[in-house]
Amino acid sequence: MPKPNSRHPNFPIPGGPDLRAKGWRQEALLRLLENVLCVGEDPENLIVYAALGKAARNWASHKAIVKTLIEMDEDQTLVIQSGKPVALLKTHAKAPLVIMANCNIVGQWAKAEVFYELERQGLICWGGLTAGAWQYIGSQGVIQGTYEIFMRIAENRFGGDLSGRFILTAGLGGMGGAQPLAGRMAGAAILCIDIDAERAEKRKAIGYLEHVAPDLDAALAMIDQAVKEKRATSIGLVGNAAVIYPEIAKRGIVPDIVTDQTSAHDLVYGYVPKGMSLQEVRRLRVDGQGQLMAASRASIVDHVKAMLEFQAKGAEVFDNGNLIRTHARDGGVANAFDIPIFTEAYLRPLFARAIGPFRWMALSGEESDIARIDDLLLEMFPDNRIVTNWIRLARAHVPFEGLPARIAWLGHGERTALAVAVNALVASGELKGPIAFSRDHLDAGAMAHPNIMTERMKDGSDAIADWPLLDAMLLCSSMADLVVVHSGGGGYAGYMTSCGVTVVADGTADGAERLSHALTNDTALGVIRYADAGYEESLDEIAKKGIGYVAVG
Ligand code: NAD
Repeated sequence: MPKPNSRHPNFPIPGGPDLRAKGWRQEALLRLLENVLCVGEDPENLIVYAALGKAARNWASHKAIVKTLIEMDEDQTLVIQSGKPVALLKTHAKAPLVIMANCNIVGQWAKAEVFYELERQGLICWGGLTAGAWQYIGSQGVIQGTYEIFMRIAENRFGGDLSGRFILTAGLGGMGGAQPLAGRMAGAAILCIDIDAERAEKRKAIGYLEHVAPDLDAALAMIDQAVKEKRATSIGLVGNAAVIYPEIAKRGIVPDIVTDQTSAHDLVYGYVPKGMSLQEVRRLRVDGQGQLMAASRASIVDHVKAMLEFQAKGAEVFDNGNLIRTHARDGGVANAFDIPIFTEAYLRPLFARAIGPFRWMALSGEESDIARIDDLLLEMFPDNRIVTNWIRLARAHVPFEGLPARIAWLGHGERTALAVAVNALVASGELKGPIAFSRDHLDAGAMAHPNIMTERMKDGSDAIADWPLLDAMLLCSSMADLVVVHSGGGGYAGYMTSCGVTVVADGTADGAERLSHALTNDTALGVIRYADAGYEESLDEIAKKGIGYVAVG
């Protein structure tokens, strides 16, 4: 039975034992499509997160996808082109049920303006990373990544402890909304600016943000008090980051850590320039895109200059994956890239071993299924400090949104072992329903993004997009249930290509085979991608785990 969804009443949360589709694999993908809208930012417009990241091209396409998933057989494959279903073809029961290509535009044409025009004509849509691939699980999807970044900074600079430390950031949207909770879990006092009061209230309502301050003075006083008491807290403030950051700098206040997760990647549909109301921005999105792009870029210049000022005064400043440095540099801030990207600065040693944001969703809709898998993880990986620490924290702090889900950064072999063990629990009836396994596209072998994931790779291979394409082909050959290739849309047009995968633990022997092949080969390619670029950790992982790397020369 679906459950009511207080945040979006028209989008009930799927669940229960009854199937609408002909099998659990199809039903699973249908529930995941429903789920990304349940937990999305603006489901009435099919928008899941990151300003324009959509679950389907339009409502007609959505309807056709739902109908097809319900009616299709296990030996068929549904083909989706930028959120529109275009074919249902006979393949075989070990082939993917769904393959997708979203927003892939030929090189010279892959520009924001071309994307907007194609989108306006209804020919394309952007799937974000996990939106169009029906893998988004709400703010939890990035929360461990954000938490691990804060903890790496704690270890590198603050004796392993962020208590009594002040984090300044902005953006309380679909992904950025994870920041206040991640900061609080890391023990810090975190201030999050968002221009949209509704977004701040939403994060408060779902338990990710503790307080919304009435103004900057009050916000800074609350932070100051928490810092003095070494008390973890999260404070939201409604305002424009391009105004608030420089104002904080002007007052001579230097936070310990500064970042930003506004949707700065999209100068039209994402970022809000200073001095403009949300209504004005919405109007210009329709008939003043050029003006809006110029105003956004000018604001980002001020925003990033303040970040650089904090950096010069000793703050730990990093780019949180939203192209803010790129737009600032284009706007004339020559040293914008003095700010490091989070992947290279903090997470690359993990990615080099293909340890990344793995996640699973309880298709039954029952939280007890996630709790059982939490226990299983603690039993299976008692010596993995990242995992055990995270699961204990997540249990205590991370509220569920939509289908109960969990994320944990696991690597090669670990993902497969967990998924196969979970499949056995589904088979034995210990879980109330099947579990879908997936991961963020920001994963070792799955993403080429020279300003985020692959910035400053050891061998200079930053812009080579062969790896995510190879990953997708490998996953199709490895019995995954859903495989997708995404490229950037909006502000990300021309900036990235990524691959996504979903595999369903339905409790069958075939399910175990699918999980085993797909998850093992996915992380194997991830380790190989970094080994090929010369990372020592990857060569070590290959030797230790017997990964089939073909070393040339
Ligand atoms: P979103 O569109 O859901 O939310 C963006 C938020 O920024 C909105 O709440 C908006 O009101 C706010 N905002 C825009 N301009 C502002 C300004 N000038 N001042 C204050 N607030 C402003 O986007 P999201 O899904 O939260 O993603 C945010 C960014 O993070 C995107 O660029 C996205 O691509 C990127 N991202 C990074 C990672 C990662 O792994 N680090 C993961 C996902 C998304």
